[in-house]
Amino acid sequence: MIGKVVVLGGGTAGWMTAALLSKVLGAQVAIELVESDDIGIIGVGEATIPPIQVVNSVLGIDEAEFLRETKATIKLAIRFENWGDVGQSYYHTFGTAGRNTAFASFHHFWNRARKLGFGGSYWDYDLNFLSAEAGKFASTRGNDPVWDMPYAYHFDSALYGQFLRRHSEARGVVRTEGKVADVVRSGETGDVAALVLTDGRQVSGDLFVDCSGSRGVLIQQHLATGFEDWGHWLPCDRAMAVPSERFEHTLPFTRAIAHGAGWQWRIPLQHRNGNGLVYASRHYSDDEAAAILLGNLDSPALADPRIIAFRTGCARRQWNHNVVAVGLSSGFLEPLESTSIYLIQSAITRLIHLFPHAGITPDLVDEYNRQSRIEMELIRDFIILHYHANARTDSAFWAELRTMAVPERLARKIALFRANGTLVQDQYDIFMEPSWVQVLMGQGIVPEDHHPLADGPSEAELAAQLAQLAQLKARPLDQLPSHDAYLQRLVAGAR
Ligand SMILES: Cc1cc2nc3c(=O)[nH]c(=O)nc-3n(C[C@H](O)[C@H](O)[C@H](O)COP(=O)(O)OP(=O)(O)OC[C@H]3O[C@@H](n4cnc5c(N)ncnc54)[C@H](O)[C@@H]3O)c2cc1C
Repeated sequence: MIGKVVVLGGGTAGWMTAALLSKVLGAQVAIELVESDDIGIIGVGEATIPPIQVVNSVLGIDEAEFLRETKATIKLAIRFENWGDVGQSYYHTFGTAGRNTAFASFHHFWNRARKLGFGGSYWDYDLNFLSAEAGKFASTRGNDPVWDMPYAYHFDSALYGQFLRRHSEARGVVRTEGKVADVVRSGETGDVAALVLTDGRQVSGDLFVDCSGSRGVLIQQHLATGFEDWGHWLPCDRAMAVPSERFEHTLPFTRAIAHGAGWQWRIPLQHRNGNGLVYASRHYSDDEAAAILLGNLDSPALADPRIIAFRTGCARRQWNHNVVAVGLSSGFLEPLESTSIYLIQSAITRLIHLFPHAGITPDLVDEYNRQSRIEMELIRDFIILHYHANARTDSAFWAELRTMAVPERLARKIALFRANGTLVQDQYDIFMEPSWVQVLMGQGIVPEDHHPLADGPSEAELAAQLAQLAQLKARPLDQLPSHDAYLQRLVAGAR
């Protein structure tokens, strides 16, 4: 019987776990969260992907209140600059270009047109792209699905944690401040029985969720689960973060700007910009990184840059004994596609689905670990694609990534797409076909052939259809307010 869950850690992972568990299982289990004010949180992690809206909806969070409390902005896309090659840029939007038919996706039709010399850019058919470029936003929900504009948020991670804390405590989650110095383990099973704090207090439980960040206090320090390192595919191992003054005209997208041996993020919030350089310490010293980061800010820095070392890879098992690792303790894929907070959400959702009400069994644990593993590998492959498919000739970093052997599943995916535009959707892949198509083509991999169904219309018919579709997609644009006006209205209305 699982009567009590102990969450170790009060960062985004800890409070998201506490908030969701208390909302869904609060009537069945008691929840206590232990966090150390001395250690604090990592304090980055400010860009999300659209499934975050499911978290808000499950928790019954009002969007206007959320935007106001976390100083959030809207995210329609990521703009990748200098990735495929220096001087080039493309968007990975959350939208879908064109309109898919039952058996052949839009990109096949567009690709045929491209070869015939018309059709413009693939992104001209994506409302997310058009709105992002125009700096506009309003929810288009409830209209024709052709105008569906999925979005996520940028938010202040510290404010987000506090926001979730208020929700969790209102639902009965008990917060204990203190630093874990040791654990008590059951002599029989080796399971964790209690956390021992530095002042001697003990916090006992039946199931422990390790949200202690990259330290992995339970999953690694005490259970020695082991870590699988993916640094040979994802060589960036350091980040330098610095906030800067708010930039006028808040962009409704994240910028990811590639440099000689890494990339820089720009995350617009209501009260400041988040900036950071993710880099490979083998290629850049910290001084070089600081010069690049500070030399490429849109607005004056508000603090000294902060260095965060990290390892890409994952715990060999996300669930070991009666400990489930969630958040950075479970592993880290670098922040390029803003997937870590999603992985937290997904881990908790999985834990709730497979919750061991009657006790932990090996089958439950294996299934949890199997699903977690596939999900992480698929995201890993998607991120590798950005680095690998490049034509940059300006540094050894990019040349090494271009010529490296990639995981076999990714190699097959690239080959199939390059040959005829086919993409196979994996069950556990958070990134659906529109995402893969945009990044593959954005990084310069354009299919050599298209699906025969795209040969159905005559050349003139295809041209007319595409022109009509581009017009249809762009139709809402004139009515949309600027992103800033939208935020101001929503946030003011929430007061
Ligand atoms: C450079 C960088 C950029 C990122 N950008 C993004 C992004 O844009 N989008 C995204 O989705 N993700 C991003 N991430 C990941 C994101 O920051 C994390 O997934 C998220 O913040 C969750 O962190 P956490 O809660 O696991 O760990 P932390 O925030 O480190 O929290 C750990 C908690 O455990 C507590 N703790 C640790 N040890 C003990 C102890 N012994 N006793 C008691 N308490 C303890 C700490 O006090 C703290 O409360 C980024 C990560 C990095 C490194």
